Amino acid sequence: MKYDQELQTAIEAVKKACTLCSRVQSSLVSDETITKKDKSPVTVADFGAQTIVCHELKKAFPNDQIVAEENSKALQTEQGELVTQRIYEYVSDILPEIKKDEIHSIIDTGNSEGGPEGRFWTLDPIDGTKGFLRGEQYAIALALIENGEVIVGVLGCPNLSENLESSDGRKGLIFSAVKGHGASVRHIEEETSEKIEVSDIEHPSYAPFCESVESAHSSHSDSEKIAQILGVRAEPIRIDSQCKYAVIARGDASIYLRLPTKKDYREKIWDHAAGYIIVKEAGGRVSDVLGNDLDFSQGRTLANNRGVVGTNGELHGLVVSAVIEVLNSK
Ligand code: AMP
Ligand code: MG
Repeated sequence: MKYDQELQTAIEAVKKACTLCSRVQSSLVSDETITKKDKSPVTVADFGAQTIVCHELKKAFPNDQIVAEENSKALQTEQGELVTQRIYEYVSDILPEIKKDEIHSIIDTGNSEGGPEGRFWTLDPIDGTKGFLRGEQYAIALALIENGEVIVGVLGCPNLSENLESSDGRKGLIFSAVKGHGASVRHIEEETSEKIEVSDIEHPSYAPFCESVESAHSSHSDSEKIAQILGVRAEPIRIDSQCKYAVIARGDASIYLRLPTKKDYREKIWDHAAGYIIVKEAGGRVSDVLGNDLDFSQGRTLANNRGVVGTNGELHGLVVSAVIEVLNSK
């Protein structure tokens, strides 16, 4: 298969990043959190995961560009020096070839701008930092984009289990997709994968929907109105990170709503590219709130889109109509 090397490299890099993140999460202490300008928590795991994935991508594909969420600026302070030491300790346990004085420059290989031409990877080293810090769901999200189109997507979900209903299933799943070749899931420590498909629910009243835990990232009051219009009976499933896309792709939920909370906010490509291709390859649909396709050719943000609607495909038209009705009534 074309893109097999890209897929395998991405899966192995994400697995290593998952290992690092799980280790940090189980020993989380406050000095591993520093504050970014936008006040979102940034952790040793965030930078460590970016170091690992960027290093592995550059080793396999030295000419590829990377558009990643973090940069080393926040680490170039006195407090940042302590954090860099901690990052180095975690990273070198997994990749001993990485030297401490390379960490900042490896992180900064993720500084590309993206755009309409050529090929680049986009990485969210920890999507759902808030979930990570709460000990809940988060994801390592990596995708390959060529000429504005998402071609490969890998989502590492260290805390997701096979079954959303029960927490005792084995935790730690990797979801992946290659354009035109379907979507799959595997356990982090296993090599074999199985195909996944979206639900075949045709009527929205039986369709569980998912949304952000954080109402600042997606309006819960608008989603409640939309659910009412659609006659959705179940309570919303609130999960942090692109685990929401994974849950749609494997059919646990049939609708994902991300409804704008701020007029000027632009979604980031790394928050959506991997989840987008995984849902589409599992047979679902993903658009913005107006039903337009997501446009990954606009640089680091989805500048041409507002919000996101993901569904099992079957329900897409109905859901987008209800979303437009609610947004127009405001
Ligand atoms: P979630 O876990 O789905 O709530 O999404 C987490 C992501 O939301 C983070 O990676 C941020 O990049 C992104 N984010 C931050 N502010 C906003 C906002 N106002 N609207 C939508 N997404 C946001
Ligand atoms: Mg994110």
